[in-house]
Amino acid sequence: MTSTTRTVDKMAVTVAIVGGGAAGLVAAIHAARLGADVTVFEKNDRCGRKLRITGKGRCNVTNHCTRDEFFANITGNARFLFSAWDRFSSEDTEAFFEELGVPLKVERGNRVFPVSDKATDVVDALVRECRRTGVQTLHETVTELLLRDGRAVGVQTARGARLFDTVIVATGGASYPLTGSTGDGYRFAEAAGHTVLPPTPSLVPLVEEGSFCASVQGLSLRNVRLSVRDTATGKTVFEDFGEMLFTHYGLSGPLVLSASAHLADATRGRYEVSIDLKPALDEKTLDARLLSDFKKYQNRDFLNALADLLPQKLIAPLVARSGIDAHKKVNAITKEERAALLALLKDLRVRIRGFRPIAEAIITKGGVALPEISPRTMESKKVKGLYFAGEVLDLDAYTGGFNLQIAFSTAVLAGESAACAEVQE
Ligand SMILES: Cc1cc2nc3c(=O)[nH]c(=O)nc-3n(C[C@H](O)[C@H](O)[C@H](O)COP(=O)(O)OP(=O)(O)OC[C@H]3O[C@@H](n4cnc5c(N)ncnc54)[C@H](O)[C@@H]3O)c2cc1C
Repeated sequence: MTSTTRTVDKMAVTVAIVGGGAAGLVAAIHAARLGADVTVFEKNDRCGRKLRITGKGRCNVTNHCTRDEFFANITGNARFLFSAWDRFSSEDTEAFFEELGVPLKVERGNRVFPVSDKATDVVDALVRECRRTGVQTLHETVTELLLRDGRAVGVQTARGARLFDTVIVATGGASYPLTGSTGDGYRFAEAAGHTVLPPTPSLVPLVEEGSFCASVQGLSLRNVRLSVRDTATGKTVFEDFGEMLFTHYGLSGPLVLSASAHLADATRGRYEVSIDLKPALDEKTLDARLLSDFKKYQNRDFLNALADLLPQKLIAPLVARSGIDAHKKVNAITKEERAALLALLKDLRVRIRGFRPIAEAIITKGGVALPEISPRTMESKKVKGLYFAGEVLDLDAYTGGFNLQIAFSTAVLAGESAACAEVQE
């Protein structure tokens, strides 16, 4: 057997791609554009099921950012992505989708969306381009990788063994398993001799220790400031302004999901969330506002004096927390009691018990260990002809389109490398 590099002129390199999600489809297109004979194996009856629900159905495809901003938004292992970003940056992602007929727009925080606000347009464009470039899609579940003499030589499905020159694993993480990402790639990687860092949830709702959130469940707050303090170190690990939601188990919403990515280990009681319900008012202004409302409602019970200031659902639980008698007349509330209420409005605390399960996470942290993968090609250092791309790798980022950018950047490198690989004759 000899090793040769097949080119477009010779017999095409055959590439199997396991997973027809964000990374799999983009890898397929780039491999096919280099003349490879590409087959995508997708377990669902449609490709890109997770992609269709990204960005609340609008798909935040990437972030219109600089190189430095991109790397600042990767939670760890950013250096691994240097080559992938250099080959396919967010600017390339934007050009790629525009070229595929998906006009894009940039929104707050440099988040890039299709002008149509439809994630399905993104998936349809990828599927169309796969077809145009001759990619074959088989709706079959890969059950194992075929390995021989330290090389990947094909895949096994229920319909039998299929041989290929190279194999790309793009099976995604373990979150939202109903979309097809059930962590199969971790098993494939381990069987190939790779280390897999335990998959844990990231960008995930938080579970509270008490029952305050349950008492206001369903309430969504638009303009709050949320910070998270690590009680073990006393440090504030996250602080931002935006939208959040109280649920029966704790906290959710964009602000909370972003915060979760900054919590290394959400063990019982370690983190405490602080919500500033009135971030636009400093303490002096808020106190003046309280005084004015208290004057207006001076003869009412305290419980009935906060309707101008707070959503109805929040009033009774906050009054209970304030320690002030709900039925005390407003004109009898002391200066100290008003100060306690003010402190509560600026610093409503929720103790965190842990994360919601990985199935509810937007992203899986952990995955195939990066020291065992070549950052220039995405090829396994343990098994020749085996490549990894997307969320199956031990890479993740904050919200804003960065996670899809990771999938695309790694996919382009994997697709092109797999298409140009030296193959056994
Ligand atoms: C609700 C939600 C919203 C999100 N919104 C955004 C957003 O707006 N912007 C952003 O950047 N990121 C977003 N993300 C994250 C983003 O979707 C992922 O980072 C991205 O989809 C990862 O791409 P992937 O190709 O690695 O995996 P996936 O997109 O999960 O694709 C993996 C594919 O592999 C298939 N597969 C798995 N195992 C097998 C097997 N054994 N055989 C055959 N096929 C298999 C699966 O069916 C699936 O289609 C969101 C995630 C969620 C859950």
